[in-house]
Amino acid sequence: MSLTLNNFIQLENFGHSLRAPSYRFRPTRAEEIYDVFCLARKTGLTVAARGAGRSYNDAALNGGGIILDLSAMNQILEWDPASGVVRCEPGVTLEKLWQCVEPSGWWPPVVSGTMKTTLGGCLAANIHGKNNFQKGPIGEHVREFTAMLPTGKLVTCTPEKNADLFYAMISGLGMLGIFTSITMQMKRLHSGLMSVDARPVRNLNEHLHDLLENAPHYDYIVGWLDTTAGGKNIGRGQIHAANNLKEGEDPNPKQTMRLENQTLPPRIFGVFPKSMLHYFMSPFMINIGAWGVNTAKYVASLRTHTFRQSHAAFHFLLDYVPNWELSYGRGGLIQYQSFLPKETAEKTWHEMIDLSIRRGLPSYLGVTKRHRPDKFLLTHAVDGFSLAMDFKVTDSRRAKLSRLLQEFDRIVLNAGGRFYFAKNSETSAESARAFLGEPTLLKFKDLKKRCDPDNLLESDLFRRVFE
Ligand SMILES: Cc1cc2nc3c(=O)[nH]c(=O)nc-3n(C[C@H](O)[C@H](O)[C@H](O)COP(=O)(O)OP(=O)(O)OC[C@H]3O[C@@H](n4cnc5c(N)ncnc54)[C@H](O)[C@@H]3O)c2cc1C
Repeated sequence: MSLTLNNFIQLENFGHSLRAPSYRFRPTRAEEIYDVFCLARKTGLTVAARGAGRSYNDAALNGGGIILDLSAMNQILEWDPASGVVRCEPGVTLEKLWQCVEPSGWWPPVVSGTMKTTLGGCLAANIHGKNNFQKGPIGEHVREFTAMLPTGKLVTCTPEKNADLFYAMISGLGMLGIFTSITMQMKRLHSGLMSVDARPVRNLNEHLHDLLENAPHYDYIVGWLDTTAGGKNIGRGQIHAANNLKEGEDPNPKQTMRLENQTLPPRIFGVFPKSMLHYFMSPFMINIGAWGVNTAKYVASLRTHTFRQSHAAFHFLLDYVPNWELSYGRGGLIQYQSFLPKETAEKTWHEMIDLSIRRGLPSYLGVTKRHRPDKFLLTHAVDGFSLAMDFKVTDSRRAKLSRLLQEFDRIVLNAGGRFYFAKNSETSAESARAFLGEPTLLKFKDLKKRCDPDNLLESDLFRRVFE
């Protein structure tokens, strides 16, 4: 098929803080991906893949180039409820996937904090969940994938076959090829409910100690961290740790696994439409408002308790308020997620949180997780923890924020930390080289030459970090 360049549109990152005009194509079949590569070659443009555009940064943006939007390749091709193995097109969202497998007693082994992401995007970033310390990133649950290289060649990869490509394309940010089908193993469930323990932590030492000591006793663990609290309160927050119910613990698993018992309620307190909520959050998205909300949340979380919650409610808390990112206003938000070894995390985050508060640029939301290393090429994980911090962007804050985050990069690198390419927007080529190491970069560049000899696949992130 012969394509023409007539669909120029403005695309944004998830946080609406970055914009990139691009030509967008939305293939429905693998052959159409090849047509887009041919057009790119003919016009001298570059191509970047995009799933649901849920990356916080420029990973799925390609200013002045072509965006290959995979969201229409969204069919579940095969599903075997006996073995829990599923084969999907790359545009299948986690939402579509869990809704397909959950009623038969399965759940995706690794999910992001939103269900709107696509499998292609999740593999390209190699996402982690609240169970990263146990189950590793999503790539560890992929049995096989097929990808189209810019040469038009289709490659099939497993941990054994084309293993170098398997471990590089998963985590490779769509820079080596485009996933066209993905086969994954789901995880067995014995109930539609989870048992969740909630408890407060008074400071960073208690916070990280809880994650470290308690993670082995749970399937999932995550912390909320009040990034507006300074001094001796730095690191205070709440831990949520959860276990899947074991066989026999739920008297009626068929009932709790029904989809209507999983979907998130459309209204708050039964009356207030959630879709309106972000308007009411907006006035609180200033330093003093965020401090008030975080303080109130901390006070409300002082009670230690245990409760049962559906899988969807536990995993996709961030989907409770649709379009919550719009509450940050016109300039949007960016996220900064650092991964630190367990030995250096406390001192390092203490310094970073303190610095952000002193500069008048506190993060409005902080989330912590426990991690373990993995063997994917562009891995972000460590034997330690991560802290994700959300920052409001405005015209007057943008330059100051950028300087703060570059300072953060130096602090994190000195502490042996790493960064995540689906989140951070400031990581420079120097920082990437420092944490990935020269041998990893050379290996990535070698594979890039092999898979994409004409450098067709490029995103704004690629140009920022790898060129
Ligand atoms: C509210 C929220 C919560 C989140 N929680 C988490 C979390 O808990 N853990 C976590 O790890 N991440 C999390 N993320 C980040 C998110 O999971 C990743 O950014 C993910 O990559 C987004 O998927 P997507 O489909 O939107 O991909 P996009 O953002 O559209 O693209 C991401 C990358 O994938 C590439 N890509 C997309 N499709 C393909 C394809 N078919 N073939 C090759 N490359 C492709 C793109 O080029 C780009 O580099 C969260 C994001 C949000 C907005």
